[in-house]
Amino acid sequence: MKKVKFYSDDALDFHKDVLKAKRNTKDDPTYKKRMEDREDTISAQFTEYDSRFAANTLEGMSVVKLTSSQIADFLRLYRYKDKCFQDLEEKLSVDENGHEYPYCPMCDIGEYHSLDHILPKGVFPILCDHPKNLIRCCSTCNENKSEVWLEGGKRKFLDLYIDDVPNEQMLFVDLSLNGDLAVYKYYVSDVNHPNPDLYRMYKNGFEKLELARRYKKQTNEEITNMISSMKDNIKQFNATDDQLKTSIRSSVADMQQRHGVNYWRAILKLAFCDDAKMFAWLKSKAV
Ligand SMILES: [Zn+2]
Repeated sequence: MKKVKFYSDDALDFHKDVLKAKRNTKDDPTYKKRMEDREDTISAQFTEYDSRFAANTLEGMSVVKLTSSQIADFLRLYRYKDKCFQDLEEKLSVDENGHEYPYCPMCDIGEYHSLDHILPKGVFPILCDHPKNLIRCCSTCNENKSEVWLEGGKRKFLDLYIDDVPNEQMLFVDLSLNGDLAVYKYYVSDVNHPNPDLYRMYKNGFEKLELARRYKKQTNEEITNMISSMKDNIKQFNATDDQLKTSIRSSVADMQQRHGVNYWRAILKLAFCDDAKMFAWLKSKAV
């Protein structure tokens, strides 16, 4: 999981652009007028969201009571394929250094193809087009998320716009051999004493997004890449075990710089460097 850059322009202006692009239909010729008449309600909820976002107190966000037809009206504002949201997604894909970050910040596996509502749109329909309530992610992560966002009065998941992902290692992988087959088991632990509240939300996300299973599924491909780069190092430079490990560790440092300490590919590579038996197994595939 990686903290990412959020939308920094005026959220209400964004909403106005979304509404401007909407069309009345033959069946519903008064939609835009109805929405314009709700501007005060929208403005109040957006203003509260912005101040709670800045203070990191979103768990206290007021729920506005709405009728089912009002809810339907608000939800009509959000269409992922609409230009406003496609433009937003593109804007958010560039990090603070101007580099494109093409990965899903929740799982660090796939590319993003959707926008997730941080506070669920089922509970906060008015916020369905608030640009700071929309975070880009892959479709698997988006599908795995649910409307449940609170746990004992606290937010259940990390908000990757405002929460820091702890720098302590929280993700681990157990490596073992079953015959000649490597077995991988990813898990999280607070053994390195990360901030307890951030760890609680990190762990909830890890479980809800089924990251242990999804990382495991990606691991064989990663191992194939490791073996192939090891092969090159042995063939070209006759690299010793220590040199091979130094090369792996230096690629890990680059990865962690870009994706964070708990980046799963980095954790996997380090686990091989730290386990003599598994390192020997890996090397046996490269010679
Ligand atoms: Zn994802």
